[in-house]
Amino acid sequence: MKNKKISYTIAARDLAAHMFQVSVTVEAPAPEGQVFVLPAWIPGSYMIREFSRNIITARAEAGGQAVALAKLDKHSWQAAPCKGKLTVHYEVYAWDLSVRAAHLDQTHGFFNGTSVFLRAVGHEDAEHVVDIQRPADEAARSWRVATALKELKARRYGFGTYGAKDYDELIDSPVEMGDFALATFKAHGVPHDVVFTGRVPNLDLARLCADLKAICESQIAFFEPRTKKAPMDRYVFMTMVVGDGYGGLEHRASTALICSRADLPTTASRDKPRSEGYEKFLGLCSHEYFHTWNVKRIKPAVFAPYDLQVENYTPLLWLFEGFTSYYDDLMLVRAGLLSEDGYYKMLGKTVGGVLRGSGRTKQSVADSSFDAWGKYYRQDENSPNAIVSYYAKGSLVGLALDLTIRAKTGGKRSLDDIMRALWQRFGRDFYNGRARGVTPAEVEALFDEISGMKLKPFVDKYIRGTDDLPLAKLLPQFGVSYKDERKAGKPSMDVNLGRDGADCKLSAVHDGGAAQRAGLSANDLLVAIDGLRVMGNPNNVDALLSRYKVGDTVQVHAFRRDELMSFDVKLHGDRVPGITFTVEEKKTTPRRPTAS
Ligand SMILES: [Zn+2]
Repeated sequence: MKNKKISYTIAARDLAAHMFQVSVTVEAPAPEGQVFVLPAWIPGSYMIREFSRNIITARAEAGGQAVALAKLDKHSWQAAPCKGKLTVHYEVYAWDLSVRAAHLDQTHGFFNGTSVFLRAVGHEDAEHVVDIQRPADEAARSWRVATALKELKARRYGFGTYGAKDYDELIDSPVEMGDFALATFKAHGVPHDVVFTGRVPNLDLARLCADLKAICESQIAFFEPRTKKAPMDRYVFMTMVVGDGYGGLEHRASTALICSRADLPTTASRDKPRSEGYEKFLGLCSHEYFHTWNVKRIKPAVFAPYDLQVENYTPLLWLFEGFTSYYDDLMLVRAGLLSEDGYYKMLGKTVGGVLRGSGRTKQSVADSSFDAWGKYYRQDENSPNAIVSYYAKGSLVGLALDLTIRAKTGGKRSLDDIMRALWQRFGRDFYNGRARGVTPAEVEALFDEISGMKLKPFVDKYIRGTDDLPLAKLLPQFGVSYKDERKAGKPSMDVNLGRDGADCKLSAVHDGGAAQRAGLSANDLLVAIDGLRVMGNPNNVDALLSRYKVGDTVQVHAFRRDELMSFDVKLHGDRVPGITFTVEEKKTTPRRPTAS
């Protein structure tokens, strides 16, 4: 027998207090006492966040009678056994302006289901419906609703009842409400909404739609070259625009984004080339959209299904985040939105960033993936010395693997074929009753099968091992030169600097560098170099050091907490990589990834 549906109501009850009022009704509660649980993390963001800390009050009732509700642990409640329909009413505090949680004020409301919808244990596979209620507040009079949830008793963009086929779909469908800017385009026949919340005068929605359409169509055709069939019936890009922000979270038929106002195109700049900031925003959209296939349908086996109460460990995030990062910018080139030269400029920054930290010699991308919960998501001042990013190095693994396969097969095979094989075998039917994730062993076997090569040595060196990727050897075979023009003659303390009010702070001290050998530490505040004051601007340190040569010793005064200390720093040559790529020939065999 199919479980009876689970019904929610959610109302933005008090905009000034940032409070959602939520209820969940279970028609046939468990006879021994129904248990309700709120997720501890949100898929796509690998950190325990304990969303239940924002549930302020909760009570249960059945047939008009109060039912006792006992707390089992920090995420879980159990109602006393009762007859008939059981409803739990609870308040959720929503004041986290990020893509990961919930936010509510007079300007808009946003929530992820993981922050607001208690899971009725044992009923996860039932149909889940939610009545999204119009706030009573006058400020919300003209609000509309954007979500990928299906309208049951609601007009598109209206308040009312929406449905999901199960709990997993419900919490994978964030909701935005407010006076947002909205436009729609079709990509290979599928409607795509773009929604912008926040003040953006003269936003150029037409340009955004045209550019996003090119990205979406490129990706749909990438995974389904023959049918050009998108994996969803509809898609929603929902963006929160702020003064300074950047980020996104992927979902199966939508994405929640946050971006800086200055990165968006305006009607006043319509005839101008795309700005770097706008290219960055399009890269973010491309990234989250690529996840529609890679991680929302092609998934690591441990995510099928997710256990949302504890950490879910996988050594494969280099594939799900790294390869997605490889393809996000590449898709801009293939969609005609980014020049090849622009692409190689971005690549230079990524390679330089990876080579800068010595953490890359200590942690592999497989280990970085596995330890994402405790390390990548909990970075501190020592991270450059301790970890490698499975995003950045993972994207370079994607590039190196792509080039290796293209070179060896004379361009007959590429990473594109591997992504399509993963899609066909693991992704396409994920939500059609064949939910099966991929294991690390299956990924490796598929690499060999599709490429016709033996790629274990590659995996051992660059994925399970910590070797630097051989891009300087691979790229010239495709007509692209690789240069590292680091300024070894420039004197350096080998630190990262940041501002702290009017002071200049060491934000990281690199292992084995001049500052570390002299005893300086991250978070020390620089006071003076050889008796000259260091001002807040980090460039000031460069200016002061430019009076010296590599090998000179300078006296550095710094505060550690409130204690003034003195250090003799023997300067060495700057270790910041200066990676540049130049396309030497326009025509090469095999073809470059940017040309496919
Ligand atoms: Zn991602």
